Amino acid sequence: MSHQPVSVIGLGPMGQAMATALLRAGHPVTVWNRTPGRADGLVRAGATRAATPADAVTASALTILSLTDYEAMYAILGDDPSSFLVGRDLVNLSSDTPDASREAARWAAGHGARFLTGGIMVPAPAVGNPGAYVYYSGPGEVFAAHEPALRLIGDTRYLGADPGLAQLFYQAHLDVFLTSLSALLHATALVTAAGVPAADFLPDAMRTITDIPAMVGSGAELAAELDAGKHPGDLSTAFMMGATADHILRTSEKAGVDRELPAAVKSHYDRAIAAGHGTRNWTALYEVIRAGR
Ligand code: NDP
Repeated sequence: MSHQPVSVIGLGPMGQAMATALLRAGHPVTVWNRTPGRADGLVRAGATRAATPADAVTASALTILSLTDYEAMYAILGDDPSSFLVGRDLVNLSSDTPDASREAARWAAGHGARFLTGGIMVPAPAVGNPGAYVYYSGPGEVFAAHEPALRLIGDTRYLGADPGLAQLFYQAHLDVFLTSLSALLHATALVTAAGVPAADFLPDAMRTITDIPAMVGSGAELAAELDAGKHPGDLSTAFMMGATADHILRTSEKAGVDRELPAAVKSHYDRAIAAGHGTRNWTALYEVIRAGR
C-alpha cells in the first residue's frame, strides 16, 4: 500500500517525534523548520528538507504544524499565502486558545485551505506509542481523509466541527495537570517546612492522585452526578470537606508557605456553603465554580 506524502512544519521535540512516527510507517515526509539544523536528524532518517514553508506545504496534500503557538504559523506562512495554500489541508497541533483556533480556521478558509485543529495529550517521547492520543476538531471530511496518517501520532479523538473544541479539551486537561502539579509542590512545601525530606512524602502524595477514582468514583460516575446536579451528601459533605480545606489553609499560614492555592480551594467551599450546599456532596462546588461567583 502506498502512503500519502505528509509535510511537517515545526521541528521542536513534538514535530520531530511526529515526523519520525510518519517516516517509520513509510510515509514520504517533507520537513521545514525556522532553525534549519533541527531537521538534520530527520533528513538523515529519510525526510526531505524543504527550502521554504511554501515548498513544504506544496509537497503534500497534508501539512502538520507543530509550533509554539498559532502566531508562529502566521509568521511562517506569511502575509499572502493563498498562492500555495489553495487546495491544501493544514492540521495544526500547536497549543493556543480555542478562539485562536477558530480564527485560524477562518484565516485558512480565506486562503483556500481546509483546516483541522488538534491538541496532543502526551509528551514527545510518547508520540506514536500505545497510550498516546490527540483531540481533533474541524471539518469531519478533513479528519476522515487524514485519519490513517494522524493515527500514527496517537489514537484519534474527533470532537466535532467547531475548530475550537480540540484546544478547549487540551486546555481543560492542562487545567487539571497544572493545578495538580502546583498542589503537589504546595503539599511538599508544607511537609518540608516541618523539616521532613520531600522523599518521605512525595511517593504517597503521587498515590493520592492515582487513587482519586477509587476515592471519589470513576469519571463516568462523577459526570453523571454533575449532569444530574443532585450531589447527594451521604458519604461526604461540603461542610466536612470545607473544614478540611480550612485546616490546610491554616496549616499553610502557620508553616509560612504560599497560601494562594489552599485559599482558592477554601473559597470554593465557603461559597458553596453560603449558597446552601453544605449538606450536599463536595461535587456541589461545581455549581459555584461554573456560575463564576
Ligand atoms: P518547541 O517550543 O520546542 O518548538 C516549537 C517550534 O515552533 C519550533 O520548531 C520553533 O522553531 C517554532 N517556532 C516558534 N515560534 C516561531 C516563530 N515565530 N517562527 C517560526 N517558528 C517558530 O515546542 P514543542 O515541540 O515541545 O511543542 C510544540 C507544540 O506542541 C506546542 O504548542 C506545545 O504546547 C505542544 N505540546 C508539547 C508537548 C511537549 O511535551 N513538548 C506536550 C503537548 C503539547 P525553532 O526551532 O526555529 O525555534
